[in-house]
Amino acid sequence: MDKKLFVISGCSGVGKGTVLKEFMARNSQDFILSVSCTTRAPREGEVDGVNYFFLTKEQFLKNIEEDKFLEHAQFAGNHYGTKKKYIRQKFEEGYNIILEIETQGALQVKEKMPEAVLIFIAPPGVDTETGDISGGVIELDKRLRGRHTEDDETIKRRLAEAKVELERSKKYDYVVINDDLERAISEVESITQKELSKNA
Ligand code: ADP
Ligand code: 5GP
Repeated sequence: MDKKLFVISGCSGVGKGTVLKEFMARNSQDFILSVSCTTRAPREGEVDGVNYFFLTKEQFLKNIEEDKFLEHAQFAGNHYGTKKKYIRQKFEEGYNIILEIETQGALQVKEKMPEAVLIFIAPPGVDTETGDISGGVIELDKRLRGRHTEDDETIKRRLAEAKVELERSKKYDYVVINDDLERAISEVESITQKELSKNA
């Protein structure tokens, strides 16, 4: 069976990390969660090489110059990127790969690798018919505050990005609403299984 690249995006605080942690706990034999590079400071408990490769801005810019990234983008004032070499290695090791990245990077991946599958995790409260996202933003605000990892200013910045991210989600292959956590995890599992069975 051919190995696939899945890209998961979603507004900050929507629960991507939570969904993926559980997904990986159940599927770690076949899937690997890609470790990205970032210039953001580590949060408490984050480990270099496990959660991210933490780079200085100079190191990050040098990697861009040397064309080392499959995709990269700036988000809320920091740089984030996925190394080409890392992805190549993980495919060689026989894994399906999951990238948990924001939407600009995801769309770069889709251009370079049209066979990649893009999944967007959205908050409950977004009205896809009218385009009214206010209920979704209230829920994100609540979840971000409940997480206690960002200050007020950072939360505001991340909520401002949410609208743009929701707009770009229209270009994704799938949108999963993270209302009930268990349901959302199951839906991501069904999508990955369905996509992998296409290559079987
Ligand atoms: P992200 O990785 O998208 O920024 P997190 O996974 O860190 O978001 O989740 C943000 C907060 O929302 C966490 O405190 C998490 O426990 C909570 N959360 C995740 N999924 C749900 C859900 N379905 N319902 C309510 N709260 C959730
Ligand atoms: P955080 O700072 O909360 O870890 O991540 C902020 C945003 O950056 C999230 O939307 C996350 O998905 C995204 N992100 C993480 N790694 C990468 C990456 O390698 N490339 C891109 N484009 N975005 C990333």
